[in-house]
This record gives sequence, structure tokens and C-alpha cells, in this order.
Amino acid sequence: MNRLHDVLIIGGGPAGVASALLCKRHGLSYLALESGKLAFQGIANSYPAGKPVYPSKPKDAPEPFLVEELRPPEEAVAVENYLRQVLEVVQREQLNIQTEENFQEIHEERGILTVLTDRGSYRAKKVILAFGCNIPRELTVYGDAKMVAKGLDDVEKYIGIRTLVIGGGNSAADVVISILKAKREAEDGTPVFWAHRTETFRVNKETAQRLGEEILLGGNIRLLPGAIPRIGEVDNQGMERLVIRINKFEQADGIDLYHALSFPMQNVIACIGSQGPGPIFEKLGLQLITCTGGVCKIGKEGERLALLTTEFESTRKGIYVIGGAISPSFMRISAGSIVEEKHPNLIYTALNDAYHVVEAIRKALGSNK
Ligand SMILES: Cc1cc2nc3c(=O)[nH]c(=O)nc-3n(C[C@H](O)[C@H](O)[C@H](O)COP(=O)(O)OP(=O)(O)OC[C@H]3O[C@@H](n4cnc5c(N)ncnc54)[C@H](O)[C@@H]3O)c2cc1C
Repeated sequence: MNRLHDVLIIGGGPAGVASALLCKRHGLSYLALESGKLAFQGIANSYPAGKPVYPSKPKDAPEPFLVEELRPPEEAVAVENYLRQVLEVVQREQLNIQTEENFQEIHEERGILTVLTDRGSYRAKKVILAFGCNIPRELTVYGDAKMVAKGLDDVEKYIGIRTLVIGGGNSAADVVISILKAKREAEDGTPVFWAHRTETFRVNKETAQRLGEEILLGGNIRLLPGAIPRIGEVDNQGMERLVIRINKFEQADGIDLYHALSFPMQNVIACIGSQGPGPIFEKLGLQLITCTGGVCKIGKEGERLALLTTEFESTRKGIYVIGGAISPSFMRISAGSIVEEKHPNLIYTALNDAYHVVEAIRKALGSNK
């Protein structure tokens, strides 16, 4: 049976890394699971190159930054420099962060929480959910969550193979451009298929120019407008494949004829946008409160907000939620009533949440460390 940790942390962004650092400092056994290749992958993926990182703090926030090591410098620096600062801390402190682990589920038995990822299962007394608010959408076909990439971590992986990129916007186009360029430089003539469920692709002018340039330089691209991912299946060699329908012909006898392509799922990248963490909270069975009848000032009408205690514990005992995952607001149970709590999506908030939740966990575990 695998080791029982005090704390498992899901996500290796500011909230997750700060939690790991504080657990280490207080001698709690912990493991952080990050889906990307490196800590802070969420920031690396979502900030444009060279973007200054501001140490923003809400005006009415009473506390200073409570995790100094991860605080962005007073004078804003480019995101690349901030990432360097953070990765130095991760390395120097030898933080226990396991990368390329995609969180999926939590089971509970007699007070022990078992976290399942696409690569394994891990046990702990407490779990901190720190996966931010940019949860990639899935294709919702069998096997997608496990096998289909949601971004471009390593372009080299696609050299020499027929690759399928799904999605009709700028981020899908960026992935197509990067793969075309890498293939061109490696003198690899295999095509990149670019599929979108509607008939038109929507990219901005600058992206279209870069794509046009790659095509004119010899990029082998096959456009698949109106193509719809249909099913995930395992072929007779045990390979998980995605079948994408590219044409449908309705017959007079009521039996439709399809044209479809089938790709190994490991050749597929789905860039179909991101969603808030609501669906994950629901899947985990955390209680959510719906903003109705003008109850919320920040949450939009009909939005469902996580219900948490003052110590960020959810309605599933031992599971805490912090950082961007509960921004821009959540419902706090306080002195017997439920109130909407403002929670700005900032590095400051993520770091300070981590501080408070690790304190709460130390208390709950009776730790005097
Ligand atoms: C373009 C942009 C600019 C910004 N600029 C600033 C700024 O200048 N100053 C500032 O204070 N704030 C800024 N912010 C906000 C700030 O980045 C966020 O508040 C902060 O990153 C939230 O930290 P987090 O750890 O909660 O979430 P994230 O940073 O999103 O980290 C979550 C981590 O969890 C991982 N993850 C997600 N799903 C899973 C899964 N299923 N399994 C395992 N791991 C998973 C992700 O890969 C990611 O690394 C900016 C945000 C954006 C988008």
C-alpha cells in the first residue's frame, strides 16, 4: 500500500507551491501533484511572453504577503524572471512536486483520502485543491481526459507523426504554427490536421499572418472544418484512438453515411478553451450555492459558488480549496450564516490562502511542528 501523507496538494501554481513550502517548513509530510511539466505551468502557459508580473495586493487587504519567497519583486519583472525566481525556490528547498500528474478524483474511506490521477493513486489525511481557474475543456469522448494533450508541452513529440489539433481559435492556431515550424526545421513532411467543429476558424490578424507564413514556407497543413470528435475507442492492438467525423451524408433510407478519420489519441492536441472549476467541484461532490435573487454581489446570477468554512475547508471533510479556483468569490460559512466572500484572483491571494490553510491543517492534525 502506498505511503500515507499528511497533505496532498493538487496544482503547482502559486497556491500549490506555497502550500508545499509551508508544509515542508512545518515538517508535515506532503506531495504536490502538477499536471504540467514544471511548477507554475499555469502561469507559464497563460501569460504572454515578457508580461510584467505585479505584486498586486487588494487595497483593503490587512495582511502583508505571507510567503515572501514566492512574492513577485516590488519592481515588476518579466514573467520569465519571476518563473526563474520560483523555480530556484522549488529547487533549493527540494520541494516534493510530482509533475505530469493530472488530477481526476478523490475517494474517502474511514477518514483517509485517496487521490486518483492519470498515473496513480496517492493517500493523505488532508487534500488542498489548488488547481486554479483555467481548467481545460475536455472533448467528452471516452479516454480523452487521460490520453489527449490539452496544450503543447513538447513540440519534438510531434515530429514524424501525423498530428491532429482540435479547436478553432488563436490558441489552437498557435499550436498548429509551432508544430508546422518544428516539422519544417526537422525536414519532416508529415501533415498537421487542424479540425474545428464549425465551418470557420476564428483567429486574429497577427496569428493569421504567422500561420500564412508557415504555410507559404512549405507547412503541410490539412484543414478539417466542420469536423466533430465522435468516439474514443481502443483498437485491436490496444491503441486508444479518437474518431473524428469529417462528413455526414444523409441517405433516403434513413441510414446515414459518415466519413471519419481515426488518430491515435497520443497524436491529438485539443485546444478547445478552458472552463471554471465548477464541474470538478460538482464531480467531487462539494456543496455549491447558486447565486439567485440578487444574493451575490460578485458572482453572476445563476453561477454556482463553492461553500467553504472560514478555514477554506469544503463540505467534504479534509478537502480544502484555495487560490484562483475560488476566485473571484466563494460562499463562506461564518457564525452560522452564509455570505459571499470577495476573493480577487491574485498571486497575493493564492500565497496567503496557502498560509492560512496550512495553519488550519496543522491545528486539525494536532501538529506542534
Ligand atoms: C495573463 C495573466 C496575467 C496576470 N498577471 C498577474 C499579476 O501581474 N499579478 C498578480 O498578482 N496576479 C496576476 N494574475 C493572476 C495570477 O496569475 C493568479 O491569481 C494565480 O496564478 C493563481 O494561482 P493558483 O495557484 O491558484 O492557480 P494557477 O496559477 O492557475 O495554478 C494552478 C496549477 O494547477 C495545475 N493544474 C490545473 N489542473 C490540474 C489538474 N487536473 N491536475 C494537476 N494540476 C492541475 C496547473 O497546471 C497550474 O500550474 C494574472 C493572470 C493572468 C491570466
